[in-house]
Amino acid sequence: MGEKINVKDIVKRKKEELKQKVDSLKKKGIQPKLAVILASEDEASKIYVGKKRKMCEELGIEQEEYILDKNVNTEDVVNIVKKLNMDKSVNGILVQLPLFKHLDMDEVLDSISDKKDVDGFHPLTLGKLFIGEKETFVSCTPKGIMTILDDIGVDCEGKHAVIVGRSRIVGKPISQLLLKRGATVTVCHSKTKDISLFTKQADILVAAVGRPHIITKDMVKKDAIVIDVGINRVDGKILGDVDTENVLDVCDRITPVPGGVGLTTVLSLLENVVQATIEQNK
Ligand code: NAP
Repeated sequence: MGEKINVKDIVKRKKEELKQKVDSLKKKGIQPKLAVILASEDEASKIYVGKKRKMCEELGIEQEEYILDKNVNTEDVVNIVKKLNMDKSVNGILVQLPLFKHLDMDEVLDSISDKKDVDGFHPLTLGKLFIGEKETFVSCTPKGIMTILDDIGVDCEGKHAVIVGRSRIVGKPISQLLLKRGATVTVCHSKTKDISLFTKQADILVAAVGRPHIITKDMVKKDAIVIDVGINRVDGKILGDVDTENVLDVCDRITPVPGGVGLTTVLSLLENVVQATIEQNK
């Protein structure tokens, strides 16, 4: 019988470590600050922004929010980003995705200075991640997954890591991070003929699809480490991409949903803000 990973506990410990870093910056007269731009009416995005605000408060990181209405155009958002790029008091800029449909996401993300790209979605940041450069921001959900794997002592070297999903924000960057750690990586997606053929071989299985319980017990290798990234709202409940309760019969460890990867995603963002603050004050 497998075990649910206590992500809450991991995040609690990591938050204490991060708070110490923030306190020592403040002692030197340096105040870390995150700017958040919300240009959408997406309810989940509003909840995420609220969670980020709460953790900023807990850690003593300053936060300013730009809540924009439907009348904004791409140029307006880019102009706000450019102003924030120049503002020395702002260390990190986060543009909450998805944006209003009429806005050009690539144009907005490309306008963020790579020095303040704490969400890690700028092409330059992603490029650095893909070539394995150390001095870059790692996008928050993949970074959080690595925090979990490291904390529970998973040695990725020589393991077969199978990722279901190939998005810019999860699937692609986590595939590179695992590859860098010496895993053999397979990435499945909607065009993969039979994902179970691959998932059954996974020592480390990452599900980032957005389909409730798409990963069932028969698709999981015995003693696998399972990372469930999915957040699916079904009949007022939040379900992951993995049928957790049944998969527990076969896996070694699994992240719960809710209370799993989502928690480390927010933590990673603030770790990146502190990293940006330190680098900008060198
Ligand atoms: P996304 O951009 O929609 O990407 C989903 C990926 O899944 C795509 O690569 C897609 O393949 C693939 N896919 C879709 N249906 C499939 C199927 N039947 N079989 C195999 N692959 C399939 O989603 P995302 O942004 O990566 O997010 C994925 C999930 O994670 C969502 O539930 C999201 O809410 C959640 N999420 C959670 C966090 C967190 O902090 N916990 C952070 C980000 C996202 P194609 O590329 O071929 O279309």
